[in-house]
Amino acid sequence: MAWEFETDEEFQTELDWIDAFVTDEIEPLDFIVANPYDLSDPIRNEILPPLQEKVQARGLWGCHLGPELGGPGYGQVKLALMNEILGRARSAPTVFGCQAPDSGNSEILAHYGTPEQKERFLEPLLRNEIVSCYSMTEPQGGADPKVFTTTAVQDGDEWVINGEKWFSSNARYASFLIVMVVTEPDNPPYQQQSMFLVPADTPGVEIVRNVGLGHQNPSDPDAGSHAYIRYNDVRVPAENLLGERGGGFVVSQTRLGGGRIHHAMRTSGRIRRIFDMMCERAISRTTQGELLSRKQMVQEMIADSWIEMEMFRLLVLRTAWRIDKYQDYKRVRADISAVKAAMPGVYRNVASRALQIHGSLGASWEMPFAKEVIESFHMGLADGPTEVHKVQVARRVLDDYVPCDDLFPTTHLPRRQAEAEARYAEVLERHLGTQ
Ligand SMILES: Cc1cc2nc3c(=O)[nH]c(=O)nc-3n(C[C@H](O)[C@H](O)[C@H](O)COP(=O)(O)OP(=O)(O)OC[C@H]3O[C@@H](n4cnc5c(N)ncnc54)[C@H](O)[C@@H]3O)c2cc1C
Repeated sequence: MAWEFETDEEFQTELDWIDAFVTDEIEPLDFIVANPYDLSDPIRNEILPPLQEKVQARGLWGCHLGPELGGPGYGQVKLALMNEILGRARSAPTVFGCQAPDSGNSEILAHYGTPEQKERFLEPLLRNEIVSCYSMTEPQGGADPKVFTTTAVQDGDEWVINGEKWFSSNARYASFLIVMVVTEPDNPPYQQQSMFLVPADTPGVEIVRNVGLGHQNPSDPDAGSHAYIRYNDVRVPAENLLGERGGGFVVSQTRLGGGRIHHAMRTSGRIRRIFDMMCERAISRTTQGELLSRKQMVQEMIADSWIEMEMFRLLVLRTAWRIDKYQDYKRVRADISAVKAAMPGVYRNVASRALQIHGSLGASWEMPFAKEVIESFHMGLADGPTEVHKVQVARRVLDDYVPCDDLFPTTHLPRRQAEAEARYAEVLERHLGTQ
């Protein structure tokens, strides 16, 4: 059995093409296309579709999808290698048809959708003709679904939704929202919720405000894309239930496994890019007569960053490999949680060090580091806070251990000494005499 860390030649050719395409065609769009999700933007609509066609012609569209949904079904390891490159540019996932949250939303539609739901919502979503939103978190809490209070009550063959959701990303651009609501209040806590497909133009869907992140400009009306939404007597037909009644939590878990690892793959690429900037600056800038790269504390920042970055990348790739091997997200849940918990720290550390090494320029808006530091917090919150994932890892890891019923641990040195002496008693007696 061999352990290999190499990419096969054939796929490397694809990666090289993706790398050049992202560098030449997509990275410049970070300065031109305000938001790749905004389908009403004529500049976006002139530039992105021809690039999407090139990706489709190359057979690289929707690489997170299996062939039954029009993707190549590469599996997660190859997807990880691709996503590292796509993570470098904001529009790249959209150009390649694998942008979050549409990718996760399409996965649950494919998994739980009826043929009619697939035709109406999934197919145009996969073609990027529409954009979607996942509306779960509520203002009073996101990390604990047990506190959600948005309800849907059945009225004839319709459901009536009432309540508030918070940080529903891309709601302002979305054609439909996937909303998690309480329909079975008398069930056990994790069987109370159901998922509904809500067309965004349904009467009663009210965006109270679009909230932006810390580095964005609150006076720019286009900046915020995380909606605070009120659902006021929103009526949807019964056929808009996605999955089972009371099955909303299961549906959400199906979505989040893939979503989390895909974020990590893209983040791995972003960290690499920041690291490259740090290194270029260290070997270019001089202070007190020598390059920054000659200063030991700068060297430490570079070494620590490289070590953390490479460890994180290997954990992502190993997790991707385990998903491919077991084809079972439940079995790799702890691995995904470990990746999710590691991601914000590595991202934040590397971005903070890059900022520091660039000095005042690094702290300014002329470099991306302040934004990247905020983005690292995004990665530590969206799809569940780091603390919750650490708890998952610890629980799963501890499942493999059995308690010791003695007062002292099984590895207590006097006990091990006694066991070893008993085992070799005859040898010891021959050489050392009676003990
Ligand atoms: C950029 C961004 C995009 C997002 N997009 C979406 C979206 O599209 N749709 C959507 O529904 N939600 C979205 N979210 C919301 C996200 O899922 C929540 O922020 C997250 O679940 C945490 O919920 P909360 O913000 O209400 O924090 P809270 O639940 O109030 O938790 C606050 C803090 O408490 C601590 N904490 C929580 N639980 C535990 C625990 N068990 N043990 C120890 N400490 C704990 C953590 O430090 C946590 O950060 C997004 C968030 C961000 C930042």
